[in-house]
Amino acid sequence: MAEQHAEGCLFCGIATGAIPSTRVYEDEKVIGFRDINPGAPTHVLIIPRTHIAGINTPEAEDSAILSALVHAAKQIAQREGIAESGYRLVWNVGPDAGQSVFHLHLHLLGGRKLAWPPG
Ligand code: AMP
Repeated sequence: MAEQHAEGCLFCGIATGAIPSTRVYEDEKVIGFRDINPGAPTHVLIIPRTHIAGINTPEAEDSAILSALVHAAKQIAQREGIAESGYRLVWNVGPDAGQSVFHLHLHLLGGRKLAWPPG
């Protein structure tokens, strides 16, 4: 798959390796790396290698990427030892949800009891 990158995009830089990160997972379509400001003992961001701005923008042909993100999350949860204790997958979409980076990313949080509803 040809990878599309957006100029100045932080997570495109992380995907190419131009910007350092602590990678915990990678496959052909997606990578997973530790959040720089973790909200839980395990806090991993899973992103497509190719630039997609957010969950509102994937087209039908991107459905394979969406399933790759979820598949990666399951693998990482296993590796982190939280698949059984539980974890949360979060997509922040737009201003009310506090989305701050406009390259699609799935948050994987776990390793402690998570409150619901979130703040
Ligand atoms: P969101 O608010 O959903 O857009 O999430 C963006 C996330 O990216 C936040 O949890 C940040 O802590 C995280 N973040 C920002 N810069 C970096 C970075 N250089 N490496 C890892 N995580 C980052």
